[in-house]
Amino acid sequence: MNYTHEHLEIQKTMRRFIDERINPHVDAWEAEEAFPAHEVFAGLGALGLLGLNKPEAYGGAGLDYSYAMALAEALGHVRCGGVPMAIGVQTDMCTPALARFGSDELRREFLAPAIAGQTVGCIGVSEPGAGSDVAGLKSHARKDGGDYLISGQKMWITNSLQADWMCMLVNTSDGPVHRNKSLVMVPMDSPGIEKAQKIRKIGMHSSDTGLIYFDEVRVPQRYRIGEEGQGFVYQMQQFQEERLWCAASSLVPLDDCIAETIEWAQQRKLFGGTLADQQWVQFKLAELKTEVEALRALTYRACDLHVQGQDVTELASMAKLKTGRLTREVADTCLQFWGGMGFTWDNRVSRLYRDGRLASIGGGADEVMLGILAKTMGIAKRGSPPGRSHCV
Ligand SMILES: Cc1cc2nc3c(=O)[nH]c(=O)nc-3n(C[C@H](O)[C@H](O)[C@H](O)COP(=O)(O)OP(=O)(O)OC[C@H]3O[C@@H](n4cnc5c(N)ncnc54)[C@H](O)[C@@H]3O)c2cc1C
Repeated sequence: MNYTHEHLEIQKTMRRFIDERINPHVDAWEAEEAFPAHEVFAGLGALGLLGLNKPEAYGGAGLDYSYAMALAEALGHVRCGGVPMAIGVQTDMCTPALARFGSDELRREFLAPAIAGQTVGCIGVSEPGAGSDVAGLKSHARKDGGDYLISGQKMWITNSLQADWMCMLVNTSDGPVHRNKSLVMVPMDSPGIEKAQKIRKIGMHSSDTGLIYFDEVRVPQRYRIGEEGQGFVYQMQQFQEERLWCAASSLVPLDDCIAETIEWAQQRKLFGGTLADQQWVQFKLAELKTEVEALRALTYRACDLHVQGQDVTELASMAKLKTGRLTREVADTCLQFWGGMGFTWDNRVSRLYRDGRLASIGGGADEVMLGILAKTMGIAKRGSPPGRSHCV
């Protein structure tokens, strides 16, 4: 994939917004453990950055997925992981299925305001009893006239404490676990919703993460995305863009972490020279930089094939797996080279060490990615664990 002038212009616009409207506030938002999502999204919406690959009929730019990828990569310039993740939820995690399979009415009601930055969305898949095992989730919706009555719990939901709506994966019938689920749009001010807990985390502090209870929450059946019973399949497709987003948004933070460590090592004096004079440090940083370039190439290739309409389950899973593994390795190695300074709270490397740890867990843990790969490679049988829940 080669970025064109248009891709680079979009990245420049994003970068300017980050420098002027996000980075000056990041430390305060991290300390407050929240950021003003409505305010930030309104700014991004006004610049047309929340719907690059969404249909023009709903306010999107109608571009192909490579533009969303370019935006995700530029988001890596934010000096924390929480704010980009919240933006990624809006652009690449809670809206792809709505844009692709939602009715015209549903897209006018939910997608258009999300693209304009007037509303904040969230994606509700995980539950206290079901994270990796998506098929095992227990929230359910029963029909009552033309409505659904939804009960259950969703846990770990990014943006959920500020969100206006949730794209919720819920059981809409009994029956086989891969065919009894639907994605339903749920307004978060509906009676019966309780924002039960803000979850404290080791990283991603500026992003709010909630535990949400649903008690007979009434929503019209027309709020269902696409066909009843297809929710699991839609969500598995939606996960592909989430995983590509995760890989693309990790590249700049990894590059920056290495670059800032080089700068540090070149001025840190020890044993009559600098830390950067140590061949071990030189070789290790050179190797890590090579790994980041390899991840970039893998991510771009997956994006290219996705744009061509090919199934990129295997490449997106590889990219997500490699992102988690490499982020841990880069952050840990660099933190070590910073010595005591690396162990301090406000150091950017220590922030990547904390924030980046999520990449091996959220959106499908490393082992779930390996389970998918074992299947796509023909090593494990389809329908067998591990990772059965993420691969129909
Ligand atoms: C900060 C944060 C934000 C999140 N945001 C969202 C969100 O917006 N929406 C949403 O729906 N969810 C969200 N999640 C949830 C996230 O997707 C889940 O945490 C993740 O899927 C893992 O599920 P779990 O925590 O229930 O762990 P479990 O499913 O209990 O798994 C625990 C561990 O078991 C191991 N494991 C899993 N499967 C296998 C296997 N087959 N073989 C071997 N080992 C295995 C893995 O190491 C895994 O980490 C978020 C999580 C966090 C921490």
